[in-house]
Amino acid sequence: MAIQIKTLEQLKIMRRAGLVVGQTLELLKASIKPGMTTDALNVIAAASIKRAGATPNFLNYHGFPAVICVSVNDEIVHGIPGPRVINDGDVVSIDCGAIIDGWHGDAAFSIGVGKVDPQDQKLMDVCEESMWRGIAAGKNGAKLTDIGYAVEQYTNSQGKYGILREYGGHGIGTEMHQEPHVLNFGKAGQGPEIVPGLALAIEPMITRGSDRTKVLSDDWTVVSVDKSRGSHFEHSYAICPDGKPFVLTALDGGFEKLASLGVEISDQL
Ligand code: MG
Ligand code: MG
Repeated sequence: MAIQIKTLEQLKIMRRAGLVVGQTLELLKASIKPGMTTDALNVIAAASIKRAGATPNFLNYHGFPAVICVSVNDEIVHGIPGPRVINDGDVVSIDCGAIIDGWHGDAAFSIGVGKVDPQDQKLMDVCEESMWRGIAAGKNGAKLTDIGYAVEQYTNSQGKYGILREYGGHGIGTEMHQEPHVLNFGKAGQGPEIVPGLALAIEPMITRGSDRTKVLSDDWTVVSVDKSRGSHFEHSYAICPDGKPFVLTALDGGFEKLASLGVEISDQL
């Protein structure tokens, strides 16, 4: 499948979907506390997406049985919400997606609940910052692999972390997962050029240990083989017709974080 290039009008709809995702994730961030089940988070997300007049895109995606993915500790991505109780000190990653008028948004964050191990906090901080470095590197005129290069360089500069190899970011638009696949590692300067109208989900997944993972018997949950804790951050962003980026799933469009990296966001959305 070819890379889908969006018009400004289409990106405006994607911004609406992205805001639903961003607002739902903010609500989940504010709601999460020790003693809650991961299913309780799913109930909150389902109601938030419905209230916004959007449709969840994870539900029934290749049979996925919930509205969000909730992955705890050594679970890194694709955890299924259920009766698991969130404990003090857990690292919880939540991934959420929504559709408006056929256009998709997709984003994720990790958070430490209650008293957080400083090493876990550092893991999450590194993962989040690497995502922003990736987005900043994926500017108009850059090459696709500049993104993964930036993610990997930053992550490795911060310590010994395992960057997942089998999972990565992706194009997003009228499907949640489109071409191109976006690696979180590798050489710079390769692959297709980043151009206006391109929309990508950037999502580093890292662990405090090895990059080796396995899928649990539920056929979804991805865990680290060495049981090290993982973190996952994700935003969907686009290059607007003016050549500037805009982070579709960030409430402020990525203004603050990208400004700190010397990147100006578009005012077209
Ligand atoms: Mg996602
Ligand atoms: Mg994604």
